Amino acid sequence: MTKPSHGRSTTAVHGPPARRHPDQPVVQPIYQSTTYVNAIGSDREVMYERYGNTPNQVALARKYALLEGAEAAIFLASGMAATAMAHLAVLRPGDHLIASEWIYGGTRRLFDEEFDRFGIAITYVNPALPRAWRRAVKKTTRAVFFESPTNPLMRVVDPTPVTAITKEFGLALLVDSTFASPINYRPIETGADVVITSATKYLNGHSDVTAGAVAGTQSLIDEVIRLSRVWGPALDSHSAWLLDRGMKTLAIRVERQNATGLAVAQWAANHPKVAAVHYPGLTAHVDHAIAARILSGFGGMVGLEIQGGSEGAEHFLRRLRIVTHAPSLAGVESLISEPRLTSHASLTPDQRKTLGIADGLVRLSCGIEDVDDLIDDLRHALDGL
Ligand SMILES: *Cc1c(COP(=O)(O)O)cnc(C)c1O
Repeated sequence: MTKPSHGRSTTAVHGPPARRHPDQPVVQPIYQSTTYVNAIGSDREVMYERYGNTPNQVALARKYALLEGAEAAIFLASGMAATAMAHLAVLRPGDHLIASEWIYGGTRRLFDEEFDRFGIAITYVNPALPRAWRRAVKKTTRAVFFESPTNPLMRVVDPTPVTAITKEFGLALLVDSTFASPINYRPIETGADVVITSATKYLNGHSDVTAGAVAGTQSLIDEVIRLSRVWGPALDSHSAWLLDRGMKTLAIRVERQNATGLAVAQWAANHPKVAAVHYPGLTAHVDHAIAARILSGFGGMVGLEIQGGSEGAEHFLRRLRIVTHAPSLAGVESLISEPRLTSHASLTPDQRKTLGIADGLVRLSCGIEDVDDLIDDLRHALDGL
C-alpha cells in the first residue's frame, strides 16, 4: 500500500507533490498530439497515445494511483475496458474466477458471453453468505471479483471472508468500487490487489467523459498496459485532461453527495409513500455495520421503493422537475433510473423479487444541488401519488 504524502482533497487537486517553476502554467495544458518526437538513436520507449504514456495520461494515472493508495494506475476508454483489461491481466485460459453475483450488468455479460470463449470458468457467489467464497475455491481458481457498494440496493460486501481465501490460496482480488470512489472506499486498504473504477462516474463527475481506470501493483499495471497497447482501448489525451479537471473537485463533490445522500435517505425513510429505503448510512440497512467499518462515507446513491409498484414509480418519475430520469450516475446533477427497465431488465419480475429488487424501486444518484431543493422535488412528486 502506498500512502499519499498529502490528504485526498489536496491530492485530488495537485496530484503528486512537484516543484513549480516561474512561468510554468498552473494548469497542465492539453497535449493534443497523438505522437511525440523520438530522439534518433535512442532506445527510450516511444510516446504514443495508444500506449497510454503521453503527459496528460501519465499525470492523471499518477494522481489516481495516489488516491487509491496503489503503486500504479492506468486510465482506459471506459469502465468496461478497465474491467476487461484488468481481468485479462490476471486470468489465463483454463483459469477459474469466483465472482460476486451482485455486479454491474455489463460485467456480467463480459463474464458470461466473452470469458467463456477464452476458456475461463466462473462461479457466482452470494456475498451475503460469507462461507460461500471458500466453498467456491477450486484447484484452478486464480482470482476473485466483487463490486461494492452494489447496484441498486447499496449492499456493502464484507472483504474479510474474501481476503481470508485470497491470502490462503494466493488468489488475486479485484474490486470494482465505482459507487464509492476513493474518497469513500479504498479497497487496497482492505486487502484488494486490483481496483477497477468507471471514471465515467464519480472521478469525472460531470456526465461528459467516458473513461475507466485500473490501479494496483506496478507489475499488474504493466501487464494491463501491455494488453491495452495490443487490444487498443486507450483513453485519448483530451478526455484525460477533462477527467483531470473533474477530479480536482472529487473530494468536495463526494463529501457533498455523502451529506445529501444521508439527508435524502433519512427524510425518505419517514415518508408514507416510500415503502423502503436502501442506503448503507441508515442503521436499518442490512450492511450498515460493515459499511461503517470500511467506508469513509456512505455515498450519494439511494435506492427508493415507491408505493404502488411500477405504476407508482412511473407516476412519481413524471412529476420530478429537478431530478432527471436518465441512466448513469455520480454527476453534479441528480439522476434517477428504474433498475426494472435498465440494469435488471433482462430478469423476470420473479427473479428481480428474489434479488430484492421490487418493481417500484428507483435508484437516485444525488448531485450537488441544494439538498432542500432535491427533497422538495421528491416530496412534490410523492405527494401526487
Ligand atoms: C458504469 C459502471 C461500469 C461500466 O463503466 P462504463 O464507463 O460505462 O464502461 C462498471 N461498473 C460499475 C459499477 C458501473 O456503475
